[in-house]
Amino acid sequence: MAYIERPSPNHAPRPDGTTVDILVLHYTELPLQESLHILSDDSRETRVSAHYVLAEDGTTYRLVSEDRVAWHAGRSHWRGREALNATSIGIEIVNLHGDRHDYPARQIASLIELCQGILARHPAIEPRNVVGHSDVAPQRKIDPGRRFPWKTLADAGIGLWPEPQGRPLFGEVPAALQRYGYAPPIAVPPRDIVKAFQRHFRPARVDGMPDPETRLILAALLDQTGAR
Ligand SMILES: [Zn+2]
Repeated sequence: MAYIERPSPNHAPRPDGTTVDILVLHYTELPLQESLHILSDDSRETRVSAHYVLAEDGTTYRLVSEDRVAWHAGRSHWRGREALNATSIGIEIVNLHGDRHDYPARQIASLIELCQGILARHPAIEPRNVVGHSDVAPQRKIDPGRRFPWKTLADAGIGLWPEPQGRPLFGEVPAALQRYGYAPPIAVPPRDIVKAFQRHFRPARVDGMPDPETRLILAALLDQTGAR
């Protein structure tokens, strides 16, 4: 696919022996040029970047090479691992509407093409490891938000979407969320974790309550991933 090269100085080498196995999706609530500027600014106290930035019209900018670490996830946790920048690829999606409007179709079409390429180049990225920033930093982040079309991506082979089968979830929800990949409930308030899960998999109601539908969706995902 066609990228516009827009190199950022904010990157580091991958640690020796690193396998890239996580894809983190973000939104930036800033306009394109401002986003590109901040993600390339090496004078800030906290330097940030991403591998790619997707404009609202679907134009794709490459800021950091995939074989380098970009600084997009910050303090983060997934499946027992911390500080996920080292092993992940990060995409920032320009979204000036927060949770108020759907993402533009052509932006999502470009995102799907970009993600399919990334997954082909990094086969260690399992479906369960295609995550939102809020999945890996539930206490701090809500991006890519409730309007993000996770099901559309899953239909294109990117990430997971639950197919509830009706087998109930036994036991506590926080422990089950941790088995799926979320931070342990000791590290993050369980309600924030449930909210992150709902934002991703049950966006119609994001209240942090482990209601029966939330439990059913979680049970289905644990079954789909063999993590039950
Ligand atoms: Zn983010």
